[in-house]
Amino acid sequence: MYQSKTSRGDSPVSIIGAGIAGAWQALVFAQAGHPVTLHERSDATMNLATSHWAGGMLAPYCESEVAEPIISRLGLRSLDLWRKELPDTPFNGSLVVALARERNDFERFARMTSGHERLDAGGLAALEPSLEGRFRDALFFANEGHVEPRRVLPKLHERIIAAGGIVKFGSEVSVEELDGIVIDCRGLGAREDEPELRGVKGEMILIETSEVKLARPVRLIHPRWPLYVIPREDNLFMLGATTIEAEDWGVSLRSALELLGAAYAVHPAFAEARILEFGSGLRPAFPDNLPRITIRNNKVAVNGLYRHGFLIAPALAELTLAYVERGQLDNEVMRCA
Ligand SMILES: Cc1cc2nc3c(=O)[nH]c(=O)nc-3n(C[C@H](O)[C@H](O)[C@H](O)COP(=O)(O)OP(=O)(O)OC[C@H]3O[C@@H](n4cnc5c(N)ncnc54)[C@H](O)[C@@H]3O)c2cc1C
Repeated sequence: MYQSKTSRGDSPVSIIGAGIAGAWQALVFAQAGHPVTLHERSDATMNLATSHWAGGMLAPYCESEVAEPIISRLGLRSLDLWRKELPDTPFNGSLVVALARERNDFERFARMTSGHERLDAGGLAALEPSLEGRFRDALFFANEGHVEPRRVLPKLHERIIAAGGIVKFGSEVSVEELDGIVIDCRGLGAREDEPELRGVKGEMILIETSEVKLARPVRLIHPRWPLYVIPREDNLFMLGATTIEAEDWGVSLRSALELLGAAYAVHPAFAEARILEFGSGLRPAFPDNLPRITIRNNKVAVNGLYRHGFLIAPALAELTLAYVERGQLDNEVMRCA
């Protein structure tokens, strides 16, 4: 535990990295009354952050198909924190559909997950009129949500300032040069200090069309990775995401075919959509693909959020605060180095 001789509100807290992990840490500490400074090396566009490329799905039930139980635990708690902090977050659920040839995998997905109800074709059309006649049935995960990363990060940064924190863009700093409590949320930028950290590439495509209307993310069962279409404001849709053990950048032709094919399978009218952007980000991951809060006296590193940064960042921030203020340890996530 950080041994402060002063009252908790007097201990300066520096957070490095304003991606989704650092933004939530800064917000939670600022709201708890700590004098917070958030340092970010990129400018306010945040285009050096993996978070800039993310889908922003808050989907603990769907992710439980492949993720460890700890992701569900942190994810479910985070849903509450998102709801409390940003009540306008769309919590209108998500849908899972499959082509006839992926029927077995669809049934397996249904068995491996909870928190869903099965809709017939009519039920699906009632929720998403654009999908009328497209699929025989669907799984509806009513309690899931989604955020738009490029809109929600600035919102969180604004709220940090409203809570009395300072956000410094264009500020590249090291853990060693900062005094007081330091929370290191550099993602892959921390690799020199975290040799086990690796980047797992995720590719995405942004398209625009007014021909299809969706209110919530739609996942299409795919033999290799979960492909999804996420509606954004202004007739935009994000198509994501591959999961590739590589650290290069850009979108391969094969991935582009699969992502665009998924959109076309969800609705043929996507064929007329305009492609606005191909992009990729590297998800920071430890060998077990699980998040870690590593404690080195008054330096705390929060990293390895892998595919789940938006889903679990709020709960990780709450755990970090509980450690700093009360010495409370969470053995599943925390390590003392
Ligand atoms: C295509 C794709 C889709 C995804 N979809 C989802 C999804 O739907 N739901 C979900 O929950 N997750 C999703 N993810 C995963 C999610 O994006 C990551 O888990 C998350 O972005 C990791 O956040 P982070 O804050 O740890 O790292 P980052 O977002 O990379 O933030 C780290 C920040 O630290 C800054 N930094 C580094 N070094 C320094 C320094 N020395 N000084 C100052 N600043 C520094 C960087 O510039 C960066 O802004 C997706 C990822 C990808 C690539």
